[in-house]
Amino acid sequence: MTDKNLKTVTVVLAARDEAALVAAEALTFGPALDAADYKVLSEGRAFEVSVKTPDGAQFQNNLTARLKKDGVAADVCVQPAGNRRKGLLICDMDSTLIGQECIDELADFAGVKAYVSEITERAMRGELDFEDALKERVGLLKDLPLDTLQKCFEQRITLNPGADMLAKTMAANGAKTMIVSGGFTFFSQRIASAAGFAEHQANILLDDGAVLTGAVQMPILGREAKREALKARASDIGGPGNAVAIGDGANDLAMIQAAGLGIAYYAKPAVAAAAHCAINHTDLTTALFFQGYSEDEFAA
Ligand SMILES: [Mg+2]
Repeated sequence: MTDKNLKTVTVVLAARDEAALVAAEALTFGPALDAADYKVLSEGRAFEVSVKTPDGAQFQNNLTARLKKDGVAADVCVQPAGNRRKGLLICDMDSTLIGQECIDELADFAGVKAYVSEITERAMRGELDFEDALKERVGLLKDLPLDTLQKCFEQRITLNPGADMLAKTMAANGAKTMIVSGGFTFFSQRIASAAGFAEHQANILLDDGAVLTGAVQMPILGREAKREALKARASDIGGPGNAVAIGDGANDLAMIQAAGLGIAYYAKPAVAAAAHCAINHTDLTTALFFQGYSEDEFAA
């Protein structure tokens, strides 16, 4: 193979602990050609290195397979060198920025959690039409008192690790930050505020002033609307190629594929297969490592 067939790519590894990082280093440097510019991003947690390879995607696939085979708890992302820091962060909310599906938790207050969460799971796997599945589940919340929403938020909803660090660090570096959710504005508004996102978009639960009516405002924000939000917000930063998108469900697929860096976060299989890279072992701050931020640059 001649040198002109080789491209320089940046490989980032983020590990759950120091032992996993050491194992990941060994697996990375074994097959790497001309590894250079090794840089620690976080002591014992993450590093990046430039390598020359004929095919960066193949390099990532091979490395991911080796990590999995050896049981190494580390996440990997291989990208072209340069232009890695993105000007827009666009994130799904449920099971991405937060550890729950809000609709499943609301359904618990309505006494129908088992049924609703099964539909949610199938919809997020892409087995059901997103809009029909949402309408059916919201219908089951009919007559739920409005104060239940606040109770649900306070008692059930938790930010996933690194959510606020991710948004605040990117914002501090001039990036736009946005939540785009197939869930509900009641929650996305509060999560945007808690995690430091500048903007949020989601579906609106309709009510009569006292209880939920069981309807959601049309049109429903689904898969295409997420991609449209990405395109619209990225229009003045040079397009979706300069954005990072993160999500876990089938309705995040289009936005993840359209973004310059699309990350599957503990995602459903179809999403993980279509994303540029995945977070399966570490937390949301890994999205900063993938962009070349080191831990000492994280927002305080
Ligand atoms: Mg989700």
